Amino acid sequence: MKTFKFAVLPGDGIGPEVMEVALAVLKAAGEKFDFAIEYESADIGGIAIDNHGTAFPDSTRAVCDASEAILFGSVGGPKWESLPPKEQPERAALLPIRKAYSLYANVRPGLLYPQLTEASPLKKERIPNGIDIVCIRELTCGIYFGQPKSTTTLENGEQRAIDTMVYQTSEIERIAQVAIETAMARGRRVCSVDKANVLETSVLWRKVVTEYFQQNAPAIELSHMYVDNAAMQLARDPNQFDVLFTENMFGDILSDEMGVICGSLGMLASASLGAEKNSLGFPFGLYEPSGGTAPDIAGKGIANPCAQILSAALMLRYSFGELEAAAAIEAAVEKAVTSGTRTGDIAFGLDPVSTKAMGDAVLDQL
Ligand code: NAD
Repeated sequence: MKTFKFAVLPGDGIGPEVMEVALAVLKAAGEKFDFAIEYESADIGGIAIDNHGTAFPDSTRAVCDASEAILFGSVGGPKWESLPPKEQPERAALLPIRKAYSLYANVRPGLLYPQLTEASPLKKERIPNGIDIVCIRELTCGIYFGQPKSTTTLENGEQRAIDTMVYQTSEIERIAQVAIETAMARGRRVCSVDKANVLETSVLWRKVVTEYFQQNAPAIELSHMYVDNAAMQLARDPNQFDVLFTENMFGDILSDEMGVICGSLGMLASASLGAEKNSLGFPFGLYEPSGGTAPDIAGKGIANPCAQILSAALMLRYSFGELEAAAAIEAAVEKAVTSGTRTGDIAFGLDPVSTKAMGDAVLDQL
């Protein structure tokens, strides 16, 4: 029997609560589809600061190094908000882990089942069949990582801060390849988002993407859109997109907008794929819910575990090549949620149903 070995980093807030449910679903999927799971848990984020003095300790790094993939919860919370920005869990855990494993491709499905359109802030007539798009965001380059990055005090006493947006051809081409592979498995349409009317990096982005698609994916319909227009179009008619494809900062903003129009953060999973392959020949990746640690509901047992369960399904698909089990988990979540079992997720506006009850409903459907 195959054994899939991964690191489990539950993190803070609701992270450990929803992780427990996702692991139960993975175990059940293994029994059904004939694979075993083997995982080691480690601290990340705020709990790692408390226990080890740093958000991404060496001991956690060692656990990840010995794994084929990382199943991640979320990090941060009020307890650590007064720390200097560089030491705060999100910045001190997420950015280094992305860098450590060259997690350059963020794949975020934006899915809203037709039965749940009332959870979206968009009018029902704009999304009669729900929403089904994917955002591909470049994750390790651009303005979040470019140098120089500094804040200095000028002679006249004013302060000046600098961030630098940098992209080079190979960085654009490798993420373009992920957009192509994603689109080939879906509607074969990619909209590349940039700001080529203003930014040098966007001019290069558009040129490289156009040439790369012409050479490698003539079957895909490629279009280009400025980011300001893309933000409007996403709110106006999200299903005009199939695969939305963009650089780091634009993707950060657009994927959050996509999250909100899809109704609930508690339903949205994401995959961050690395440049390295694992020992099975699939990309090493980190899989996590799109939302944060939800401090307002942490510890109450009412967090929606679906995003974590769907992240586990993405891990099976991308890092373990277990397509059938991944699809079965996704179908079980859809059936559980659309047949009425939902948590008290704010977006759904229902009376709280427990995290456990939601997990049991998914297990029943698997
Ligand atoms: P959040 O996503 O944690 O919460 C926003 C709202 O969505 C809250 O009302 C919350 O209750 C709700 N929500 C989120 N996930 C839910 C779920 N699974 N089920 C039900 N409701 C859910 O965002 P925030 O409040 O801006 O941030 C809280 C903390 O999380 C902060 O410390 C932030 O830095 C951190 N954060 C971490 C990550 C990450 O680890 N990748 C991402 C975003 C925010």
